[in-house]
Amino acid sequence: MSNMMKRATGQLFFPDIGPGNRFLPPEAHLPQLQRALLDWFAAHKRPLPWRASYSPYEVWISEIMLQQTRMERGVTYFKRWMKHFPDIQSLAAASEDEVLRLWEGLGYYARARHILSAARLVMTEHKGIFPSDPARIRALPGIGPYTAGAVASIAFGEKLPCIDANVERVLSRVFNIDTPVRQKPAAPKIRELALALVPEGRAREHNQAMMELGALVCAKKPHCGRCPLAAFCVGRNMGVADKRPVPGKKAAITPAVTATGILRRNGRIFLQKRLSGGVWGNLWEFPGGRVENNERPADAVIREFMEETGFAVTPVCKYGIIRHGYTTYKIAMHCFGLKLTESPCPPAPFPPPAHLASASSWRWAAPEEIADLPMPTPHRRLADMVSSAYAAH
Ligand code: SF4
Repeated sequence: MSNMMKRATGQLFFPDIGPGNRFLPPEAHLPQLQRALLDWFAAHKRPLPWRASYSPYEVWISEIMLQQTRMERGVTYFKRWMKHFPDIQSLAAASEDEVLRLWEGLGYYARARHILSAARLVMTEHKGIFPSDPARIRALPGIGPYTAGAVASIAFGEKLPCIDANVERVLSRVFNIDTPVRQKPAAPKIRELALALVPEGRAREHNQAMMELGALVCAKKPHCGRCPLAAFCVGRNMGVADKRPVPGKKAAITPAVTATGILRRNGRIFLQKRLSGGVWGNLWEFPGGRVENNERPADAVIREFMEETGFAVTPVCKYGIIRHGYTTYKIAMHCFGLKLTESPCPPAPFPPPAHLASASSWRWAAPEEIADLPMPTPHRRLADMVSSAYAAH
């Protein structure tokens, strides 16, 4: 057993990795590991916009924005956001529609609604100053343990860990964690290791260095040849780096077929505002809904319009099918042009009866107004598709 790594009595046995390769068990060499990581970060960190000042407001917005978002896309959205809302005061004074419109395309819109609520709370409860105490940060809407740790450590230097998917990947490889990282027993172990690694007084740099390393070097395909932690990495030295992290159970993807319609009257288009819950809460959309089994999409849009708005409609054209994936759904949205079946137009049926209520508000919008309203991505694509079709005529 001498040349094999095993877990026997909680002690690790490491293999002989050959001449010239010096392996340093990470637990026994924390100061060297921390130093190697910090030196690497100082030399390789990307010049991201929030790294210019590390203001709590910018760190907070960047951390929320980057969840589930690629860095290049996050940076584009961040710069645009800061132009519109350069500080908490301007954000707190904005309308929800303005905030959601700027967020449009990033998905998980509850994040944007929470940002607005938190900004208003900072104005009323904290005199406009972002709190530095981790417990107070955690108490703001939409801030979980990850974001609280990130803001407290990166903006205020608190000795707290910051664990995102990049950090989970690095730790699972360096410490060769061989069970799924988001489940027990690995999850608490990851938290413990992440905290133990934070060097005194260097939380800001260390936490960013871990995330940066996961993004640039210890990526899905690890680039161990240029990694500052190679000498300490159990996964690499055991030859199992590409098998870490061990994947957890994946959420099943649910396909869904929907039908949606654009109803015009006097040059305006009917829109409704979704109820506040759910991933698309408070966004504006064209009415529609799921196509039932054995139902034709054209029949579904007629039924959905009657159920949701009380309007009797007839399809006059089909624009096409828009395909879109979000959370665990993969939708195929059949898109129709509609006209009212009855003429003249019946009075607007809102508010709908309580048992049918699927929207909190509605409007007949001019095409130029639609550009300013926040919409789910597939509905924005439909709006763009229809407006360019009209522009072409
Ligand atoms: S040595 Fe390889 S596997 Fe280990 S942390 Fe570095 S890049 Fe990741």
